[in-house]
Amino acid sequence: MSGTGNERPRWLTCPVCQVRFCAAESDALPFCSPRCRLVDLGRWLDERYGLPVERDPAGEDTPEEP
Ligand SMILES: [Zn+2]
Repeated sequence: MSGTGNERPRWLTCPVCQVRFCAAESDALPFCSPRCRLVDLGRWLDERYGLPVERDPAGEDTPEEP
């Protein structure tokens, strides 16, 4: 088999920041970046718990190893 370059660039619109991006350049689909994925996750969690969650800026980087 020979490669025919069949992969077309897919353009998506990020549901968080509404920016257009190439799907091949993102490793956090369907979002444009892992950052937007976290934003969406945060919104989802807020809705689930129904309360605003206060986050520690440093709490994100806490390694939890048993
Ligand atoms: Zn985005």
